[in-house]
Amino acid sequence: MTSVAEGVIDRGAVDELQASFGGELVRPDDGDYDEHRKVWNGSIDRRPGLIARCAGVADVRHAVRFAREHELVVAVRGGGHSFPGLSVCDDGMLIDLGPMKGIRVDPETGTVRAQAGVLLGELDRETQAFGLAVPAGIVTHTGLAGLTLGGGIGWIMRKYGLTIDQLQSVDVITADGELVKASEDHNADLFWGVRGGGGNFGIVTDFEFRLNPLGPYVVAGPVFWSMEDAPDVLRFYRDWVADCPDDLMTIVVQRRAPALPVVPPDLVGKLVVAVVACYAGPIEDGERVVRPLKEFGSPVLDLCQPKPYLAHQQMFDPSFRPGWWYYVRSCDVAELADDVIDIVVEHGTRITSPVSSIALWQMGGAVARVGEDATAFNGRHAGFTFNINGNSQTADGFEAERQWARDYWSALAPHHTSVYVNFLMEEGEDRVRQAYGADKYDRLKALKRAYDPTNFFRLNQNIKPD
Ligand SMILES: Cc1cc2nc3c(=O)[nH]c(=O)nc-3n(C[C@H](O)[C@H](O)[C@H](O)COP(=O)(O)OP(=O)(O)OC[C@H]3O[C@@H](n4cnc5c(N)ncnc54)[C@H](O)[C@@H]3O)c2cc1C
Repeated sequence: MTSVAEGVIDRGAVDELQASFGGELVRPDDGDYDEHRKVWNGSIDRRPGLIARCAGVADVRHAVRFAREHELVVAVRGGGHSFPGLSVCDDGMLIDLGPMKGIRVDPETGTVRAQAGVLLGELDRETQAFGLAVPAGIVTHTGLAGLTLGGGIGWIMRKYGLTIDQLQSVDVITADGELVKASEDHNADLFWGVRGGGGNFGIVTDFEFRLNPLGPYVVAGPVFWSMEDAPDVLRFYRDWVADCPDDLMTIVVQRRAPALPVVPPDLVGKLVVAVVACYAGPIEDGERVVRPLKEFGSPVLDLCQPKPYLAHQQMFDPSFRPGWWYYVRSCDVAELADDVIDIVVEHGTRITSPVSSIALWQMGGAVARVGEDATAFNGRHAGFTFNINGNSQTADGFEAERQWARDYWSALAPHHTSVYVNFLMEEGEDRVRQAYGADKYDRLKALKRAYDPTNFFRLNQNIKPD
């Protein structure tokens, strides 16, 4: 047995692993160690004993077997965007899938295969070259793997469904290092579980998705009003989206106007409420559908117009830079009742940090047309999903931002229904159970007992086998 003392794994054993490893093994005394242990959330600072940067499936198998043999705690990293930093550990081994960037679009079958290190922007670039897309998230540097395994919500989900609703098959490396394929007709239990159950059952090395026609131009972007207008804007918004077509997806944002070239200097730093739209159908239809939004009240800035989908996908990137300090509280609500709107108005006016914000996601459409029990993902019938981000650029002021997010979320507590598992911090087993609902949680536990009875994969929103 190799000893793990102070986070250092026996050199001889690592040298042996290197002999069969195609990628890079990074140790604490290597020059690029800090670069590779860093994750998106700057408030997370953990030091793995070894980082296994996998070049392919064979490396993943070697890494899993090595970690098992040496009883190492294991973190698995796709894009490193877990809000609570679950994709890096202290001591033990970080299995980093980042180098696995393969993408193969097949326009004839309307499918795409993507490896576990692919980021959303990379996938979009390849698929949009053919006027096709997989519905995924709204920030291009997010990892496809972690996002998909939790469900995947984004700009075109109301038309085409969640990211998991496009999945045709996955390749999984299990806790004993075996390769298992899962699809509707092969290991269907596992296929059900990976569509929402996160990385609990193994390391997914390869995803196969169905593709959908999109753009490449869409009508998209934000319309901003002063936060003082939020009571009227939010009531108008609630009524307007109630009847809108599924081609339209919207997110309400509250924040201080960011210092970006598209924002007039006199607006920067002012409290604003925005409705960000994306219409996933013909441009003329989109222009007609968003017209009432653009004409409501007195917008202070209107950036909603025809643009390449790829450009729209990058819109939020500057607001969520890697390395800033991030904290999130999240919940689903059934509807934007008047008292929910009152809470949104009150807490929105208390934003102080230039990088704190909320995103209020409109759900429904194709997401809700898939059966509640078809996948492990819960919350298909949520009306709206809150993502309350208490952020700061450094440690300075972080605690105050976290408190703002907690207060906002607590005020909404009477209206909480479920919560999206990918928007959880480390909030304990009860919250994971809440995210799945009691029945699905029990089913997921049974699956965990079948595929990972020792809870080898436990740095995730963990479903304990017992
Ligand atoms: C800036 C930002 C924007 C976001 N936007 C959206 C959005 O628009 N829509 C949305 O649905 N979510 C969104 N999220 C949430 C996002 O889905 C999760 O943070 C997700 O976990 C990120 O995936 P990742 O691969 O980058 O994460 P990682 O931190 O690498 O991994 C997250 C979890 O998944 C596990 N994991 C990762 N890869 C694998 C794998 N191949 N096999 C098994 N387990 C694996 C990890 O061990 C960890 O537990 C966003 C998050 C951030 C930070």
